[in-house]
Amino acid sequence: MLASTPLQTAIVPVTPYQQNCSIIWCTKTMKAAVIDPGGNLDRILAIAADKGVTIEKIFITHGHRDHAGGVAELAEKLGVPVEGPHIDDKFWIDKLDTVEEKPGFSPTKSFTPDRWLENHDTVTLGDLTLDVRHCPGHTPGHVIFFHEPSQLAIVGDVIFRGSVGRSDLERGDHDTLIKSIQEQLWPLGDDVLFLPGHGRLSTFGQERQDNPFVADSVLGNRFAVVDPDAGPKMGPSFDA
Ligand SMILES: [Zn+2]
Ligand SMILES: [Zn+2]
Repeated sequence: MLASTPLQTAIVPVTPYQQNCSIIWCTKTMKAAVIDPGGNLDRILAIAADKGVTIEKIFITHGHRDHAGGVAELAEKLGVPVEGPHIDDKFWIDKLDTVEEKPGFSPTKSFTPDRWLENHDTVTLGDLTLDVRHCPGHTPGHVIFFHEPSQLAIVGDVIFRGSVGRSDLERGDHDTLIKSIQEQLWPLGDDVLFLPGHGRLSTFGQERQDNPFVADSVLGNRFAVVDPDAGPKMGPSFDA
């Protein structure tokens, strides 16, 4: 067991799609990053203030409006850099200037990330380092963030509890998505707790058992056998 985990997380549902924006921070330095600020920036900033953290970065999983719609405004307001997604999502981010307004969504603005991310890049936050995996399929430039010491992955719309991301939107591809899940997510380990872009948390091991799209029984077992006794050993701490 790890003695303690220096990563803490607060989930902030944003936009009418109830997207799980998250604030993660290094408990040693209290430096924080906002992942996927799709909107409702006041709510995000209030929670950051309440936790006593300083937002230093914005990380993006992919360019859809419910994840990236508030990035330009937040980056401008705070003067912080934006890292991610992979450059293959540039066309989605460019569209943020032109998307038609929908009820409940704030107007969105395009932006240029300070850093596009590649597979196996790392991002840093205070004393924390997170690994980046490129997981195309839902969008071509989708990335996920993995904090190995606390066995937490922030996976955007790649996989959900009991489901997977949709692939019927522009440049989505279902087979590519399944391949990303098998080749990029499963090797991180069955005990990894994942925070999806929508809905509740789960572990990769749980999904390998009973997710109707990607369970081992559905796809065939290409990696290690799931040990049913191996629950999550250690997770990061969560605030609502
Ligand atoms: Zn999406
Ligand atoms: Zn989404």
